[in-house]
Parts: sequence; structure tokens; C-alpha cells
Amino acid sequence: MDTLTAAQTLTSAKRLVVKIGSALLVDAATGALRETWLHGLIADVVAQKAAGRDVLIVSSGSIALGRGVLGLPRGPLSLEQSQAAAAVGQIRLARAYETALAPHGMTAGQVLVTLEDSENRRRYLNSRATLATLLGMGVIPIVNENDTVATDEIRYGDNDRLAAQVAVLAGADALVLLSDVDGLYDGDPRLSDAAHIPHIATITPQIEAVAGASANENAKGGMKTKVWAARTATAAGCAVIVALGDVDNPLAALANGARASVFAAKTTPTVARKQWIDAMKSKGRIVIDAGAAKALRAGKSLLPAGVRGVEGGFDRGDPVDIVDEGGHHVARALTSYDAREAAAIAGAQSGDITDILGHEGRAALVHRDDMAL
Ligand code: GLU
Repeated sequence: MDTLTAAQTLTSAKRLVVKIGSALLVDAATGALRETWLHGLIADVVAQKAAGRDVLIVSSGSIALGRGVLGLPRGPLSLEQSQAAAAVGQIRLARAYETALAPHGMTAGQVLVTLEDSENRRRYLNSRATLATLLGMGVIPIVNENDTVATDEIRYGDNDRLAAQVAVLAGADALVLLSDVDGLYDGDPRLSDAAHIPHIATITPQIEAVAGASANENAKGGMKTKVWAARTATAAGCAVIVALGDVDNPLAALANGARASVFAAKTTPTVARKQWIDAMKSKGRIVIDAGAAKALRAGKSLLPAGVRGVEGGFDRGDPVDIVDEGGHHVARALTSYDAREAAAIAGAQSGDITDILGHEGRAALVHRDDMAL
């Protein structure tokens, strides 16, 4: 078990998710964007990218911005009002990031997700692939919940939880939750006898007990949702840092040793993902030749050319067993094609997939990231 500080956790990360709450981005009194703060944050993001880290931003603020534009009263909104406010505010939110990133020669990509996207494995794989492509192109994904279509039953409801899911989805190894407090305390942080907890190796019942709910008008999450988010993320190999957001350059401050709380990762993202896949019940089998088996063991993806047979009635995204022609288990994997399509392209070159299926498809039948050998 490592006991890295917040600064070390940040500076050793390869892929970073930063969660920004409405209270940081939008002035609650006027409903206006806090531009100076945003520019400081973006300067931080640029520095993180320059240091070689992939960065994803999970940003709230659509409802708070839309509320201001529409002149909705303070206080709780109905679901319909929130959805309308989100529709109006999300455009401004995305533009704010685009405008702030542009002078640095960087591009923002808007990604709106709902809970269903992470619960449905097919959609999960799709969003994962899209995020990977965006990051590969150097784009900064700006993620929010698709509040306009998400109803109460299918909502994350708070972006701490959304950020944890995005971190898992993207295989991030650090998640920074920018907060109105510099971490977790063993009591009410406004009282002088409360002690700051810099490192949380395990989320015990005591840790949950001290994470009493704190809320303000625009922010949904309190410390409870942060601990919930930390449980999800750390189990998937992503360390979670709760840090003070309302300073000019919050990530630079963190890297320079500002006080924060770190929830240590339980494993690495790669190991966690392989265990997750390995634990699933298989829906069918893909039989591969010796050359493909060798390629898989060398860390390659499974291309259709090496496939000899397909058994079972699996869908795209389902877990399947990959076996060699002698029936020996090679891997458990999530397939990128359903059984019918897999059978159709078996033995074919990747370049012929479009001709065979009549539509474009992924080059690999199973991507190497979706395989547990
Ligand atoms: N998705 C909501 C918004 O953009 C915010 C949820 C939250 O702040 O946790 O306004």
C-alpha cells in the first residue's frame, strides 16, 4: 500500500480527471461565469498536459448558468425547470471551455452522458472508445451529465459520482475533486478541533461516518458523495484527491503541496479492468488459430483474420471466452461484434469488414484492453 501525498499522486498520474462544481464556475449571486477562475484552471490544465498527462474535465454548471439566463428564481427547481435550464446553460458551459482553451491552441470536446451509458455494456464500450479517441487526438473532453434527457430515475444527480464513473471509464489513475474544503476532516471543518485527514488507505465505517453531508444551493455533492465516488474510483485503480477549488490555480497549488486528502487506489486501472472482465459469465466462444493465440499472448488485439469459429448467441459488448483450436482457454474478453457479425467476418482481413457487413466496423474483433488473458 503506497502512501503518496496529494502532490505525488497528481504528479505521478498518467491520466487525470478533474471535477469542477457549479459553485466554483458560476457566481451564485449573479449567475455569471467566474471567468478569472476558469482561466486559472485552464492554465493549470495546459501545464498538466505539457507534463505529459491526459486530462479530462467533468464540469457542472449547466443548470446554474441556465438558471441565470432564464431568470429562474433562487431555491429548488422542478425537474422540468432544471432540464430547461440545463439545455440553455450547457451551450454556454461548453463555449466557456472552448473559449478558454483556444488561446492555448487546445480543443474542447463536449461529452454528455447518462447513467445508462455506464450500465449498458455496449454503450459503455462505445463511450470508452470515444474518450480514448478524443484523448489520442489531444482533445480535452468536457464531460457533464445529459441533464436535459436524464429523468430522476436515470440520473447520477451529482457530478462527484459521474466523475468517478468517467475516471473508471477512461482508465484514469487520478481523480481530483475540487471542493469548497481542502479535504476530509474528522469533524465539522468550521470547528477548530476538527482534524484534517491527509491520507485514507481504506474507506472504513468511521471514514463514512465523518463524511457528514454539507451542501449549498448550487452544489449537489457533500463529503458523503465524495466518499462514495472515492469508493468506486479507488476500487478501479484510480486515486482520489479532495482539494480546495476556490484558489486561483487549484492544480498548481496541489502540485506545490497544498493541503488535501488522498484516497489511495486499491489496484491499477489495468488490473482492475482485467479482474472485472474475468469475473463475468461468458456468453459464447470464439475459436482462434495458433498465430492469433500467440499475438494475444504478446498483448495484441484479436483481428478477424485469426478467427476459426464462433459459438453461442452473444451481443456486442458481451463477455466471451477465447479458445484455441484444441479448446484451451486463452482469454476472457468483451467482444466488439455480435455472434452473427463475428461469424461473418471470421477469417477475413480487417480491410474487408465494411464490404462483408455493409457498414463500417472496428478493425479488431476484440480490443486488447477488453481482454483478460
Ligand atoms: N449536471 C449538473 C449541472 O451541470 C450538476 C450536478 C452537480 O453539480 O453535481 O448543473
